[in-house]
Amino acid sequence: MTSHQVKLFDNYLARQILKFSIDVSVAIDELGVILMASESVSQVFGWQPDEIVGENIRVFASESQLKQFDQYLAQCLGSENENSIGHAHQFKGIHKGGSYIACEITVWRDDDSHRQNRYIGIIRDITEHLKSKNKLGEYLERLKQSRKQLKRKIHELKSAQKVVARANQAKSEFLANMSHEVRTPMTAILGYSEALKEKLDSKDNLEFIDIIQKNGSHLLQVINDILDISKIEMGNFEIMKVDFSPTKILQEIVDEFESQASQKGLNLYTRYHDLIPSSIQSDPLRMKQVLMNLVSNAIKFTESGSVYLEIRVLSQSKDDRLLQYIVSDTGIGIPREKMKYIFEPFAQVDSSSSRNYGGTGVGLTLSHKLVQLLGGNLSVQSTVNRGSVFTVTLNVDEKNFSRQSDKSSQNFCTSGAVRRVENNHDDKNVSPGARGKILLVDDTKEIRKLFSYMLNKMGLEVVTASNGKEAVDLVHEATIKEDFYHLILMDMQMPVMNGYEATQLLRSQKNQIPIIAITAHTLVSDREKCLAAGCTEYLSKPIKYEVLREVVHRYLPQKKGVLSN
Ligand code: ADP
Repeated sequence: MTSHQVKLFDNYLARQILKFSIDVSVAIDELGVILMASESVSQVFGWQPDEIVGENIRVFASESQLKQFDQYLAQCLGSENENSIGHAHQFKGIHKGGSYIACEITVWRDDDSHRQNRYIGIIRDITEHLKSKNKLGEYLERLKQSRKQLKRKIHELKSAQKVVARANQAKSEFLANMSHEVRTPMTAILGYSEALKEKLDSKDNLEFIDIIQKNGSHLLQVINDILDISKIEMGNFEIMKVDFSPTKILQEIVDEFESQASQKGLNLYTRYHDLIPSSIQSDPLRMKQVLMNLVSNAIKFTESGSVYLEIRVLSQSKDDRLLQYIVSDTGIGIPREKMKYIFEPFAQVDSSSSRNYGGTGVGLTLSHKLVQLLGGNLSVQSTVNRGSVFTVTLNVDEKNFSRQSDKSSQNFCTSGAVRRVENNHDDKNVSPGARGKILLVDDTKEIRKLFSYMLNKMGLEVVTASNGKEAVDLVHEATIKEDFYHLILMDMQMPVMNGYEATQLLRSQKNQIPIIAITAHTLVSDREKCLAAGCTEYLSKPIKYEVLREVVHRYLPQKKGVLSN
């Protein structure tokens, strides 16, 4: 292409661009007189391009804004104020027909050295742009308002959360108090009836006391279960996660129930399938609680035959293994239509059965909830007059499956024909070698009397105090006289000075005497609280003679010699 052809082509292109451009392009001289205008001037301002030539560009500005428009033009077109060149200026434009248009103008100097006093003005209709900008502004404003509202709502929610937390706290305290209030008299009722039983020899009286004890224990069980259920429902139930042997708790349960089963003439079997992990991570106490309830039911609802306690592993994927505890019996079974209610509170298959077998219908509800809390599932299968199968399925991590199986991994039964447990209570009252002086601290007179009776029966000397302050004073006195106590049994809830304060005070005085906390609370955190205060061991009321005896003797000197305070 020759340079002439190039120029012609350039001109052609320029005309095409001007023809289709949406913005208005005008060429003006240094006074603002329009020399040429693009076709779009007719769409934006209603002027024909030919008709506008010779007019001053001010014709596009509305009367009200002429002053600012003139200033801008003067800055662009005057030789000294070059700063405005290339900078946009917004103004209120006017259509030939009189309507107003929001406009923006940018003025450029013509680059051609031959046309030094010429300028190019680009005018854009920004009506839509401003509208969108305004809308955006509105949206932003609304967004701001919404954010403010959201902040307010979050604040309200946080306050509501605090109220709920306070209410929950109040409920927890109520439960803790109720638990304390109920367990303390139950400790007296059960403890005294146990003590009284030894003094009775008439058959009738022994039967009466047995009934009192049986019903007392049952009442305590119901209270415990209901308290546990309400704790779970309040989300206030504490679950431990520790390593334990899944087969060991099975054996512990058999030890616990074999005499009960044998009294009914039932066989109690355990079966181990497959490769059982040597330890799993879960809550052994709660697992045992569930299994005890299932085994107790199986024995209760079986008149003849056997109760089986099994453990097995269901291999799923490599890192998702299922462990099952299965409790089955050859008992009365559960009708199909009743099975769907069986885990609901107070559901009993036949209300007359509660008379025949005893029970309240909360045990399975609690077991079901506990297994769920442990991340597992409790299911049941049953056939009337053939028996029932309750299955606890737990998810267990691969890491807990040690390669070496538990030694009882082959199939076998550990407890066949059940051996009868000898009643050797009397022998246990004699404590070979154990000796000592016990400081018993409890604010309830009856409990002091009951525990004193039990401790005296173990051949131990007892001094009592009715609150923590008295106990601390007695310990100081004993230290001065060098007649030390060997053990303190300390109730934790007492007036004047409670057990926590008394224990902390003694420990701060470097006193190493074993202190056994006795509380009516049963939460895991209560135990931790006692241990944190400096207690050596924790027992929860009501306490059976055998349990008290075992714990007391664990901390007493077995031979001659005295523990220093
Ligand atoms: P409880 O045994 O105190 O009545 P549970 O919640 O443990 O309360 O059991 C609810 C009901 O389920 C029982 O009353 C009984 O009707 C039925 N049940 C539970 N276990 C068995 C079982 N192994 N065989 C037959 N029925 C059972």
